[in-house]
Amino acid sequence: MDRRKFLKTAGAGAVAAGTLMAGAPAVHAQKKIRWKMVTTWPKNFPGLGTGANNLAKIIGTMSGGQLEVKVFGAGELVPPFESFDAVSQGTAEMGHGAAYYWKGKSEAAQFFAAVPFGLNAQEMSGWINYGGGQELWDEIYSNFNLKAFAAGNTGVQMGGWFNKEIKSANDYKGLKMRMPGLGGEVIKRAGATPVSLPGGEIFQALQSGAIDATEWVGPYNDLAFGFYKVAKYYYWPGWHEPGTVLECFVNKKAYEELPSDLREIVKQAMKAAYNDMFSEFTARNNGALSTLVKQHNVQLRRFSDDVLKKMGELSKSVVAEVAAKDPMSKKVFESFQSFREQSVSWGRIGEEGYSLARSLTFQG
Ligand code: CA
Repeated sequence: MDRRKFLKTAGAGAVAAGTLMAGAPAVHAQKKIRWKMVTTWPKNFPGLGTGANNLAKIIGTMSGGQLEVKVFGAGELVPPFESFDAVSQGTAEMGHGAAYYWKGKSEAAQFFAAVPFGLNAQEMSGWINYGGGQELWDEIYSNFNLKAFAAGNTGVQMGGWFNKEIKSANDYKGLKMRMPGLGGEVIKRAGATPVSLPGGEIFQALQSGAIDATEWVGPYNDLAFGFYKVAKYYYWPGWHEPGTVLECFVNKKAYEELPSDLREIVKQAMKAAYNDMFSEFTARNNGALSTLVKQHNVQLRRFSDDVLKKMGELSKSVVAEVAAKDPMSKKVFESFQSFREQSVSWGRIGEEGYSLARSLTFQG
């Protein structure tokens, strides 16, 4: 279309729109699009479920109501772990979860949520957005008619709640601990029995003695669950989940059919929601830690260097075995591994260097 013809057409469109609704931008004349978002979290679950609500709200506001997303809590439309298939098949257009839930679909997916002794929150952002991670993630998810987005981060988690001290790796022997994912596999090799339990069942299991210990997220979520009432020691750091990414997967066909402005809005809303969730966790963890220690007398313990070294060694072999499972896992592992190597060098003199310097004067 040449410029003159374009201007003439655009002018005619503006006149037509003007007669329909005086002064309204042409975009409002488009048909409203309504999407469904299924989630793996209970409705309004602090941080995670509310993160999904927030994402939907941002998309609605940014699009001036052109794209409305209705959020469904776990089990409302489909059971939580059927979210991936539901979005893949188009039952819903969006799904909110964490990529390690889908290892049954693709082992390589686990690298996009959390890897024991892997990347922290800041490094995960760097790898996904500027280190080749997003392209690999899209390659995996496109096999399922999905487009992957990072939509939040919990930051580093805590090592867990215990009723006995973990002084050496031997203390994991015989311990029944709730810990899903690759971290669970690591403690299994240290002699523990990892148990996978949904969030809502952990407190009761710990209280009744069905499990001896649990990890969950960090001070903010753990305080809300009241674990301090049934466990004595709260260990750090969460070596098994150093910066867990929450994801939003979108039906690829539905995404590609959006007009380009709405597609860009969805993309930018993901980034806004990611930052917002990470900021919320950072702020609320600060406050909740203080409440746990000062009001509830929680005993904080740091894992010893020996325990951490042992877990680090076990993690190496667990992750190497994932990488050996199929060509895609190998490809993702190699990208992740090379990014981790660089992160260790820069991290030591960057964030870690600064944190150590700060603690010389400010101990907290
Ligand atoms: Ca966790």
